[in-house]
Amino acid sequence: MKLLEEKIIKEGRIYPGQVLKVGAFLNHQIDVPFMNKVAEEFYNLFKDEPITKILTIETSGIGIACLTANIFNVPVLYAKKSKGINIGDDVYTVQVTSYTHKNVSNVIIEKQFLGPDDVVLILDDFLANGCALEGLLDLVKMAGARAVGCGIVIEKAFQDGGTRLREKGIRIESLARIKSMDVVEGIVFID
Ligand code: 5GP
Repeated sequence: MKLLEEKIIKEGRIYPGQVLKVGAFLNHQIDVPFMNKVAEEFYNLFKDEPITKILTIETSGIGIACLTANIFNVPVLYAKKSKGINIGDDVYTVQVTSYTHKNVSNVIIEKQFLGPDDVVLILDDFLANGCALEGLLDLVKMAGARAVGCGIVIEKAFQDGGTRLREKGIRIESLARIKSMDVVEGIVFID
């Protein structure tokens, strides 16, 4: 998506540990009119699938998931990284290693919100090593639902998550693919 690539080059900031921050429009402040265009891209890619639910993981996936769900007219379910007292015990749980925080958390969804009748589109902001998507795909499997694929706003193609998941036959659609990043010069190279 040309507009997205231009925005990443202009507004993206590179941090140690190969972390790209796009806080101006996606990760902190959300540029809603722009992200609506991103949501339309996801809709065009997956509109032929009989999607009943969009699944993401908190926090940064929630915004784009909601905008896309609005076009599909389906609910968003987001996997939670902590189990508050308002969540019952009837949950599916997986362990996910956070790329940015480097910690492992138990990620949960309540069983009542995902089941065998669901056809799921998984969305997230970034794809790096693939842990978040693998966790979400496991949750879908546990629920007996079907995942039609994953939509990613920014894939860091120099990390191996995308390759590994595609090799498993999972449909991964990324709207921008980063080939490499130079932290010293602050330059992002698009694939
Ligand atoms: P993975 O699980 O694929 O290694 O990493 C994906 C998750 O980590 C995403 O949910 C995203 O929030 C976060 N993440 C990974 N790399 C980056 C990055 O370069 N920048 C930001 N802002 N988040 C990232």
